[in-house]
Parts: sequence; structure tokens; C-alpha cells
Amino acid sequence: MSTRTTLITGIGSLVTNDPGHGTGPLGLLTDAAVVLDGGTVAWVGPAAQAPAADEHFDAEGRALLPGFVDSHAHLVFAGDRTAEFNARMSGQAYSAGGIRTTVAATRAASDAELDANLARFVREALRQGTTTIECKSGYGLTVEDEARALRIAARHTPETTYLGAHIVAPEYAEDPAGYVDLVTGEMLDACAPHARWVDVFCEKGAFDGDQARAVLTAGIARGLTPRVHANQLSYGPGVQLAVELGAASADHCTHLTDEDVAALAGSGTVATLLPGAEFSTRAEYPSGRRLLDAGAVVALSTDCNPGSSFTSSMAFCIAVAVREMGMTPDEAVWAATAGGAHALRRGDVGTVAVGSRADLLLLDAPSHVHLAYRPGVPLTAAVWRAGVREV
Ligand SMILES: [Zn+2]
Repeated sequence: MSTRTTLITGIGSLVTNDPGHGTGPLGLLTDAAVVLDGGTVAWVGPAAQAPAADEHFDAEGRALLPGFVDSHAHLVFAGDRTAEFNARMSGQAYSAGGIRTTVAATRAASDAELDANLARFVREALRQGTTTIECKSGYGLTVEDEARALRIAARHTPETTYLGAHIVAPEYAEDPAGYVDLVTGEMLDACAPHARWVDVFCEKGAFDGDQARAVLTAGIARGLTPRVHANQLSYGPGVQLAVELGAASADHCTHLTDEDVAALAGSGTVATLLPGAEFSTRAEYPSGRRLLDAGAVVALSTDCNPGSSFTSSMAFCIAVAVREMGMTPDEAVWAATAGGAHALRRGDVGTVAVGSRADLLLLDAPSHVHLAYRPGVPLTAAVWRAGVREV
């Protein structure tokens, strides 16, 4: 069966993330063209050499880049935490316990409500150029509620993450070991069929290093690949554990020792930075510069969740990473596209290359630098996901 081909010409600046195809790590091409064949990129090169196609789209000199890959989000939930945010911005400290508010609202919601809420956020992210999004459970914390969160998430993305070990369920407040047994036993059995990844919040007040190891190794034994909420609020064992267990990503990485940085740099574990969390809790930002200088692979992601980072905007994360985390605009754009793809171990997204999925973001701007240069300005001109024009 033949598919329709689309030729996009007039691309003033094209981010390919393919260094063999253009200049610098972003593989930048000017006066470029791209051909989509169904859901796949079929041709990339100078506009003057572009082949013919069934349909034609004129980018009118604007910048085209791979759709954003948001590798860390918590989107199966109900309710919001406006009051908590307002209180925190009025002087109270953040603590992980606020998650319990969302757990209660999520348990009380119907499947249809959770599905509609998730669909709304996936659409909201898509309108801002996010074409791949990861989604975690973690607001159910019972066998039934965690499994249904992952069933619902799997309707919207293949990147589903079992996070039964988000916090200790309120019913187990006096028996955290019992909760770890549940997370590594009956709950894992119910959730593993619907999940690709296993995650744990390794932090004081959540799960310590030994508990986190138990959760991750149990998940690995069931065929899940680990990723870790690591070193967000304090120094701790999360990053070292992530590297030791071959996790795809250590997420947050805000409080790192030199040994943690060296471990990440010498590993296949991506350091995923989530500046929306520090922004929304008035906390110290992680240093992208320190990780990049050491040779670590860095991804940027939203951590979109109703408590500590209620943004779905990858452009916002890019702008903050450039302003506050020592990253150049090129590094931040790479981290939000190819970096996220590395964090999800996806070879088909995060690049504009022959054979990659036709996930594209056209900006209302002549350069990808405008994502940081024009913070807070909606710059989405068009979005294609798997070759389908969505925006
Ligand atoms: Zn998170």
C-alpha cells in the first residue's frame, strides 16, 4: 500500500540532531527541505535538491525541529493543588506529603474522569510541540488503583511507568516494609503487564536506598527497565543506584556529589533535569553545565504533575535551563528532543533523519534559539505527529 508523501520546503533553519547531516551537535541545516512518507521521514536535505511529493507545505523561512520528547510526567490524577502552591509561594516549605492530597482525589475519580484528564494534558502538551510523552502511575498506591492508572496511561502513550513506590501509601504509614512488599509483589504483578518502566522516589521521607533497590530489582525481574527519581531534595544514593542497575535515566539530579557526576558521565544512564520542579518550589536548580562538562548525557523534561511542577511546556524548561542552569540554547534544545529520546531509549524520535518518525515542530520564529530568547511566548506554528498534522 502506498502512502501520501509531503514535501516541506522553505525551512529557514532545520534542527536534525544528526551531526553527520549538518553543523554542530544539532546538525543544523539552512534553506532545507524534508519529505514525509506516511508516518516516517523519507528525505532530508537542501531545498534545491528536494524530490517531488504528493503534497507541499511552505515553511516560509521558519525553524523546524524534532517534536519534543517529554520523558518524565505524572498525568494520571484528579483534582489540583492550587491552595498548596499558593501557601508555598506565601512562605511554607515543600514536603513530599502533599502527594497524599492527589492520591485521595485520584482514588475517588472514575476511570472516565482520569482518562479525560490525561487526554486533556496530552493534547495540551501536543499543542506546545511535545510529540512523545512518558506517563507514570503513583497517585493510586493500591493494587487496583495503580493498575488502572497504567491501563489508562497505556491508551495514550507506550511510555508507561510503574511508580507504586511514589510515597508509602497512607494505609501503610506505620509499616513501610509491608508497603515495599506490596509494591514488589501483588502490585507489581497487577501493573507489569501495562508498564514499560519501573520507577521509585528515592528520597528522605519516601524510599531509602535499600527499599529503592528492592523495588527496582523486582521490576527488572518482571521485564521492566528502571528509571529513578534521584537526588532531588537532598544528597542520597539514588544516582549511584540508578547507574549500578543500568537505569535509562536518573531524574532530578539536583544534589550531586562529584562521585555522582562521575558515575553518570561514565554510564549509559541519562541525567534528566526537571527545572519546573525547582521553579515551582523555589528551590536551587541543578547544574546542567556541570553534568555536560563532565560528559554526561542530559535530558530536559517537565515533571508535569499537580504538586511540584504543573507545567507541560518544554519551551519553558528550555528557557529556564538556559537562564538558570548554565546550558546554551543549542544544548537545551538538544536535551529536550534527542536527550529525552535517549532517556526513553528511543531511536525513532528526537531526530529528523531518514527513517525517524515524522514528529516535527514548526516554530513561529526563524531559529530554535527563540525558544529561550522569547520566554513565555507561544511559538508553535504547526506540529506533525507520526506524519499527521495535529496543530
Ligand atoms: Zn517526577
